[in-house]
Amino acid sequence: MKLNGKRVLIYGLGRSGRAAVELLRRDGAEIWIYDDNQIENLPEGTELISNLEVAVELADLIVLSPSVSINRKIFGVAAIKRKVIGELELAYRYLNAGLIAVTGTNGKTTVTLLINEIINRAGRLSYALGNIGIPLSEKVREMTPSMTAVVEVSTFQLESTVDFSPDIAVLLNATADHLDRHGTVDGYRALKAKIFENQINRDIAVLNADDEGAAEIAKSVKSDKYFFSVKRAVRGAYAEQGEIYFEDTGKIHICKVSDVRLTGLHNLQNALAAVTVCILASVNPEIIRLTLKSFDAPDYRCAALGEKCGKRFFNDSKATNVSATLASVRALDGRTVLIAGGQSKGENYDNLFENLTDRVVHVFVTGDNATDLIDSAVRAGYYNISYRATLSECVAESAGICADNVLFSPAAASFDRYGSYKERGACFDKLYGELK
Ligand code: ADP
Repeated sequence: MKLNGKRVLIYGLGRSGRAAVELLRRDGAEIWIYDDNQIENLPEGTELISNLEVAVELADLIVLSPSVSINRKIFGVAAIKRKVIGELELAYRYLNAGLIAVTGTNGKTTVTLLINEIINRAGRLSYALGNIGIPLSEKVREMTPSMTAVVEVSTFQLESTVDFSPDIAVLLNATADHLDRHGTVDGYRALKAKIFENQINRDIAVLNADDEGAAEIAKSVKSDKYFFSVKRAVRGAYAEQGEIYFEDTGKIHICKVSDVRLTGLHNLQNALAAVTVCILASVNPEIIRLTLKSFDAPDYRCAALGEKCGKRFFNDSKATNVSATLASVRALDGRTVLIAGGQSKGENYDNLFENLTDRVVHVFVTGDNATDLIDSAVRAGYYNISYRATLSECVAESAGICADNVLFSPAAASFDRYGSYKERGACFDKLYGELK
């Protein structure tokens, strides 16, 4: 891309904004910076903008951080002129390597890391990038055609893609999330579908055949469609009678379901998504099997902490919506005490209590949305629920309840009390550590 001498406004100077600055600087662009918050360490050779309106009008290109919505009023005319893009779109325009992109409401990080590990283990160089924490802009310059970028993509990022088009695009599921930003479930699904929008016939789409939202989106996908399923044979990877297969023109046996180290049905879906992608990326099935045998879920995804007070404790701080919490609840054997609550993302929690298994013997709630959770529980006729002011009280009292598991799975964002889900997870780990 030629941006030499062009005026580029970077809106949002987080990690992706700074990576975009580096990318553009080497291209000789004139770089303007704006941020809603106070900026420390303005990158050398850039100019801080005070009048945003004028800058938006004069800029040749506007690059948004994922936290800034393209739907803000100020971008109206500029967006119509297609001069507002996200950092992911910017990086994509410089990419000269293979591109596998993974989106979905839940499971993105797990599947992105798993695919990346399988490809690396097959002896090919790839990076896990994007929403996972390392912006594509940071690596794109050093990537060559023999390499692969495995990119986790969020709906926030898909809002501001224009030409973005992966060689292989994966949709894991599309249930309700982030309605505070995207408005309706339909609006949210339309954004998820954008990952396939620019694909051409020979590109590959991989979708979850068991997920209602993904199956609906599949109907309008024009690229070459593959599926994965834990329920039935599909064109792609599926589980059948305890075995995992990939089927296209022929049927390949990959491994046993019990070979997969990740636990729970949702993680079997994640494994099948990765199998489909990696077979289509020509990885030897034996490498896939070996990786599935050793790959662990990333931190704070229903992570087993150990046993205390006669109960197993699980830290699922990364569960920030109802479907993630339900997936973890279903993955546990025996009776469970659930600890939930946090900052609302506009989701309705009736679905949580209507679908809780009868193995959940008690729910403790804490955090900003505690009242909403209790209201939903009452509507669903679920009365084994208690409010506690702090997470510490929830943990202490869970330990005294007759059950097999204590699961901390908030079904909400962490920002009411913590800086991130990691900080919240570390807090739960600490409270577990302090239990006698
Ligand atoms: P994401 O990157 O999409 O947030 P993660 O892999 O970080 O996904 O997992 C986030 C949460 O979602 C965790 O609580 C995890 O247990 C749950 N989860 C992971 N995969 C799935 C899936 N396929 N379906 C439902 N929930 C899932």
